Amino acid sequence: MEYESTIYDELGVPNVVNAAGTKTRIGGSRIRPEAVEAMSRAAEAFVRLSDLQVRAGELISEVTGAEAGYVGSGAAACMTLAAAAAIAGDDLGTMARLPETEGVPNEIVMPRTHRNGYDHAFRAAGARIVDVGNNDNYLGTGSNSTEPWEIADAITEQTVAVGYMQKVYSTPPLDEVVEVAHDHGVPVIVDAAAEVPPRENLSAFVEAGADMVVFSGGKAIRGPQTTGILAGKREYVRSAALQHLDMHVAESVWEPPTELFDKESLDGVPRQGIGRPLKVGKEELVGLIAALEAFLDEDQDALTAEWNARLDIVSAGLEGLRGVTTRREPGGKLMVAPEVYVEVDPEAAALDAVELVGALREENPRIFVGSDDLLDGGFTINPMCLSDDGAEYVVERIRGHLG
Ligand SMILES: *Cc1c(COP(=O)(O)O)cnc(C)c1O
Repeated sequence: MEYESTIYDELGVPNVVNAAGTKTRIGGSRIRPEAVEAMSRAAEAFVRLSDLQVRAGELISEVTGAEAGYVGSGAAACMTLAAAAAIAGDDLGTMARLPETEGVPNEIVMPRTHRNGYDHAFRAAGARIVDVGNNDNYLGTGSNSTEPWEIADAITEQTVAVGYMQKVYSTPPLDEVVEVAHDHGVPVIVDAAAEVPPRENLSAFVEAGADMVVFSGGKAIRGPQTTGILAGKREYVRSAALQHLDMHVAESVWEPPTELFDKESLDGVPRQGIGRPLKVGKEELVGLIAALEAFLDEDQDALTAEWNARLDIVSAGLEGLRGVTTRREPGGKLMVAPEVYVEVDPEAAALDAVELVGALREENPRIFVGSDDLLDGGFTINPMCLSDDGAEYVVERIRGHLG
């Protein structure tokens, strides 16, 4: 199968055929053409970034139902901004000291089962994570891993927020966590980085009462990889903006947009904040706006049909291959898209699943398939970042190794 040559060929860097879905380490998603065009036009002219943030914030607020919105350089960056906002509020001194938090409350309470690699983003702002509950979901007793009272019990004078990683399987339910957090006067930060589609989720967690919600701009929204959405209460978005925007300014002529914050209510100009290294360029901001608008217009059913048709190519192509069985996993629950689950019987096939998936990655172009189930002897084919040609190529190469 022939491939159109890419800029990576020119650079001598192996291409990737992406059958794994929107994974950051292999480039996330394909930016929407509308967003690419918008970004290239954005590169031609200048704009005050705070004005552009206001415009993006209006759109985010409109689609999420949150009071305010802001754009960071990824969902993880928005988690850092959210934690910084929860810790510092409007206090310029604390903003200037972060991530040092001596003498100020800095604890984020999280159900233990919500801990994950990305929570380093909270800690990067100076937060200390206090996790509660246990992992007792699997002993067949019906007990829950975390009870709302355990969250309540952990909230003290040192607590600045409750952290919640949103997945369809997350417990306790978000609305119950919001209730205990608000009863104790602390906000809830929701990491919903990968939770769209469905489109309705853009507003669902705000509706459930979350004070700050983050989404990745570079996953299914298909904006630039280096964008994330922060949607939330105005007071937190204000603090996030103050700690993120470039603040190397002359105070005498500093007139920031009042939609973001009121200069008069501040004691002065903040120093460059903890969020300053997480900067977002005008191109990314414009790209995210264009991508989000296109995402809202997308025909979700047609897209799912397209994904399933692409997976049909894979299922049909692997049929009858010795040692291989496939099944379709419908999308919508644990993952946003349907996938083909490929099971490899090591007794019957030439390679086991680990060897096969490893070998596919070593080729040129590299082929990445979903590797979450390797320990069970299987892998997944995700259609989101594949073309139909790509699907055929993946089949051809799997057959090449196992046939
Ligand atoms: C992808 C992801 C992130 C990080 O998103 P970026 O936009 O790449 O920063 C954070 N949390 C979860 C649960 C994710 O899946």
